[in-house]
Amino acid sequence: MNFDYSEEQVMLRSTVRNFVDKEIMPYIGEWDSKGLFQPHIMKRLAELGLMGVCIPESYGGSGMDYNSLAIVCEELERGDTAYRTAVSVHTGLNSLTLLQWGTEEQKHKYLTPQAKGIKVGAFGLTEPGAGSDVAAISTTAVKDGDHYILNGQKTWISLCDIADHFLVFAYTDKSKKHHGISAFIVERTMPGFSSKAIKNKLGIRAGNTGEIFFDQVKVPKENLLGKEGEGFKIAMSALDNGRFTVAAGACGLIMASLEASVKYCHERKTFGKEIGKHQLVQQMIANMEAGLQMSRLLVFRAGELKNKGVRNTRETSLAKWQACDFANKAADDAVQIHGAYGYSDEYPVARYLRNSKAPVIYEGTREIHTIMQAEYVLGYRTDKPLNEMLPSWPFQVDSNLPV
Ligand SMILES: Cc1cc2nc3c(=O)[nH]c(=O)nc-3n(C[C@H](O)[C@H](O)[C@H](O)COP(=O)(O)OP(=O)(O)OC[C@H]3O[C@@H](n4cnc5c(N)ncnc54)[C@H](O)[C@@H]3O)c2cc1C
Repeated sequence: MNFDYSEEQVMLRSTVRNFVDKEIMPYIGEWDSKGLFQPHIMKRLAELGLMGVCIPESYGGSGMDYNSLAIVCEELERGDTAYRTAVSVHTGLNSLTLLQWGTEEQKHKYLTPQAKGIKVGAFGLTEPGAGSDVAAISTTAVKDGDHYILNGQKTWISLCDIADHFLVFAYTDKSKKHHGISAFIVERTMPGFSSKAIKNKLGIRAGNTGEIFFDQVKVPKENLLGKEGEGFKIAMSALDNGRFTVAAGACGLIMASLEASVKYCHERKTFGKEIGKHQLVQQMIANMEAGLQMSRLLVFRAGELKNKGVRNTRETSLAKWQACDFANKAADDAVQIHGAYGYSDEYPVARYLRNSKAPVIYEGTREIHTIMQAEYVLGYRTDKPLNEMLPSWPFQVDSNLPV
């Protein structure tokens, strides 16, 4: 067991922190209140090598380990949930899924430009009638010669107006239920594709989220990811990586809540002393610190399992569930500590509280993770290795691949 960050990880954290402090923090309040997503931030993330941090260098990434992705997500969400969510869908849900399940051709065509940040990836699973109950999706993909014809609609899709490539899940054979779902790589430029943002969300207002539509979209058969009928398995494996980034991001939200609260505790006086000297305020601070430390350990444990190349659905689910709940409570307590001033946009804590809610809902709601954990403990659920696993880290260097 080694709890130390490597020198590279310490440098990575400091790079992301400087970037967030200089290029996100001063502006995020305004972007959030106006509902503005800033594509130039994605370009800057690419310039800093953060769009493919744990993708092998042979596919255009930075070649760092999976816990380095967690560090990036922690630091990004310390600034705001919007850009951590962007990295979650781009790297966690899309790029890592291509790395795990893609053919060499698919990796070169889609993963490499994504890892370099030249193209942006997103993930389309949820539909108006299907969230937690994935098998209730109704998007279809019908084989037609060398193509599949996609029809249907997805909703609550992060980066719906921004992404170039979408991983889309559709039925190729509805009669087979879960085993009839397939995964496709869909390009925004394919005729029949359109998107529309959802306005006035409770939180992550600086993020882009909305609907995507498929009207007779002709997808080449080479864009089938995995085999026909493997879509459900692929979606669940994608969530193992997406949830890891959400859990890591939640640690960043707790850090931000703590920082703001500690500062305010020293500034605000009641009954002749700093509010930080009142024990009930101290209890909220102590709970935030405990939540941060426990969540981080759960995240890094899941990351270590990824580094070893072993299945980590159980550990990642636990980390995601607990970290998001702790972050939601930390943001709530941060508002409480700020009193009435926390209830306005004068301080960032109201934004933290609004932002902390979506992660308790997306990538498996609190209830779904609670059930999963109970089922593991009761012996109702077990995981077997998948036929395609994420590569362990350090990545094998394949001399046949272009760097
Ligand atoms: C900001 C944001 C961004 C998102 N980005 C994406 C994205 O990029 N791609 C994507 O595909 N989706 C995305 N989503 C969608 C998200 O993954 C879904 O909202 C989530 O899976 C829950 O589905 P639902 O909203 O349909 O709720 P439902 O599944 O309808 O659940 C409603 C309620 O019932 C509870 N419930 C459901 N089933 C059970 C059960 N068996 N036992 C107990 N309780 C249960 C739930 O926990 C919840 O409280 C995003 C959502 C948000 C808010």
